[in-house]
Amino acid sequence: MIDLNSGLQFLKGVGPKRAELFSHLGIFSIEDLIRFYPRKYRTLHPVDSIFDAPEDENICIKGIVSYPPSTTKIPGGKLITKTAITDMTNSVDLVFFNNRYIDKMLNEGDELLFFGKITRDKWGLRQMISPQFFPLSMENTLEPIYPQTAGLQSKNIAKVIHNALGLVKPYLEETLPDYLLKKYKLPSLYSTLKMIHFPNNEAEVAAARRRLVFEELLILQLAMFSLRNIKSIKTPIKVDYFFTDEYLNLLPFKLTNVQKRSISECLSDMQSGKAMNRLLQGDVGSGKTAVAAALIYNIAKNGYQSALMAPTEVLSRQHFATLKNLFENTDIRVEIITGSTGQKDKRIIKEKLKNGEIDFIIGTHALIQKDVEFKNLGLVITDEQHRFGVKQRSDLAQKGDRPHTLVMSATPIPRTLALMIYGDLDISILDELPPGRIPIDTVKVDSRYHNRIYNFIKKEVDSGRQAYIVCPLVEEGDYDITPAVGYSQMLQKGAFKNYNVGLLHGRMKSAEKDEIMQKFYDGEIQILVSTVVIEVGIDVPNATVMLIENAERFGVSQLHQLRGRIGRGGEKSYCILVSDAQNKEACERLETLVKTSDGFKIAEYDLQTRGPGDFFGHRQHGLPEMKIADLMSDTKILYSAQGIAEEIIKKDAFLKNKENVLLRKSVENLLKKME
Ligand code: ADP
Ligand code: MG
Repeated sequence: MIDLNSGLQFLKGVGPKRAELFSHLGIFSIEDLIRFYPRKYRTLHPVDSIFDAPEDENICIKGIVSYPPSTTKIPGGKLITKTAITDMTNSVDLVFFNNRYIDKMLNEGDELLFFGKITRDKWGLRQMISPQFFPLSMENTLEPIYPQTAGLQSKNIAKVIHNALGLVKPYLEETLPDYLLKKYKLPSLYSTLKMIHFPNNEAEVAAARRRLVFEELLILQLAMFSLRNIKSIKTPIKVDYFFTDEYLNLLPFKLTNVQKRSISECLSDMQSGKAMNRLLQGDVGSGKTAVAAALIYNIAKNGYQSALMAPTEVLSRQHFATLKNLFENTDIRVEIITGSTGQKDKRIIKEKLKNGEIDFIIGTHALIQKDVEFKNLGLVITDEQHRFGVKQRSDLAQKGDRPHTLVMSATPIPRTLALMIYGDLDISILDELPPGRIPIDTVKVDSRYHNRIYNFIKKEVDSGRQAYIVCPLVEEGDYDITPAVGYSQMLQKGAFKNYNVGLLHGRMKSAEKDEIMQKFYDGEIQILVSTVVIEVGIDVPNATVMLIENAERFGVSQLHQLRGRIGRGGEKSYCILVSDAQNKEACERLETLVKTSDGFKIAEYDLQTRGPGDFFGHRQHGLPEMKIADLMSDTKILYSAQGIAEEIIKKDAFLKNKENVLLRKSVENLLKKME
């Protein structure tokens, strides 16, 4: 018996070497193999005539070999084989290089399908160089085209898959329950796989794809629900008394209406007896922290602990500084734990958390380490901007007994994606900025303007403001410190020799970073040269200028996040994008930032131009990679899969019913992959 989990060596024609090549494509088992779908299909659909055949594009010609191929050696030892094909209308020359077998494969009078491009030789005559050829029986059939790897061509992959499908047919287990197949008129798994790999026509491709996309999205959505079907779960953690009025007295400002609304939405969740599971979405600077703090205050006053997890050390420290200060004259005990917290301190903090001597803890991933335990964790907040995986979020929640959870995100995302990434979270939106914000002026200039920009920065600093200078990236994703160090030294010695220039980069020890940030916050550092480590959440209201070098190397969403560091106080702020990029696409992206400050529009633009893959890279959103579904374009199927998943979960929250056994198996497999 063939087991789908067994390796490829069970297949004819696959030895250890081939198996190794397949592994480069992520194919290790027979299951992987039959689930390795074609990227597209090639139809051998011949053009009407050779006479009218277009040039310079891949086409198929049906023609008769007009004379026996003849091979000659050309200077340098290369073999060149020539022949021609004709139809009723015209003829075209065929040229092959270094192929000793052509003579034997093509015979005068053979009628075949030829696939390739027509080009002109140096005399202006039409020719096809090294076309592929196929028997007439393949006319109008669809040939699957697979992603290839060196040494393993699509054709060979197709052969092996064909072989495997034949072998597994008797053992192939259905993955969708019967009731779904019937209700939604979906083909069985075996015929689906046959149709996706070796379709007879386009309709078969469509039918197979529909089932596979549906299945993939359904399982994913079920997995998301099961990870946190906490939504409808009763919790012992109840917030019976509200202390929001007391909290308001701690704040140096009045809350906006949308902040107030979000706080009451959260509190009514927390009062309901069911665990809160909510997403707080709001552009940079919209004041999410003040909302989070209201919940922290309320939960502490009701006798529970809370935890706030942030993606970076710098951001954790910033939150710590802000919130410790805010809770200064209350009895709320605040602590921080990060990767750089010393062993001894860590031990003490863990001890206190366990005993309930800390009410509120802030931290990085360090919070989800195994030995971090709480006495009575009631509220979990993640401040994330897509940096935490689903799994990490739920890991933190596991440290309590069904705690309330709040996810804060500054990156607006289209609804369909939000439904998938954030599953069944309720959503609160901060769509109004706190008052008194003056819009940021954004300009785009080329590097000839450097002196003028430096002078402008001096002027701002002279009148008491501060500036960020975001360092050039050497290459995309290169966070190397060398350019940052060099650049800051150059500025300190040159343009800004009479000013205090500081440097911040990702490889500094966090104590160093902390010191620098503190100095910038205190105004001691006037100009902060930095790599993109400042992207997330740093808050210095006195900073009014941001200069971004090589702006074209950043994504627009990232630039928008960076820009969100300024314009936080009562003074007019300026964002200067420096770029010498000439290409239209780069210029257009930067223009988008100049023209709009609406984070949601910018995110849409980013999605359209760079695609979801880039924007929500696998690691960023924590979802597994899709094999066939496209979250952006398969929206119809996505909606229906989401609806059906919801129905299933409503009736059978843990997929324990007999009819859902198959679904549970697939969901468990997927969750394993997501770990
Ligand atoms: P984000 O949503 O990006 O996390 P923050 O919570 O950091 O935004 O808030 C941005 C800035 O706005 C902070 O300096 C904060 O103190 C200030 N702020 C927040 N809410 C208000 C408000 N209602 N009125 C005035 N300033 C506010
Ligand atoms: Mg924030």
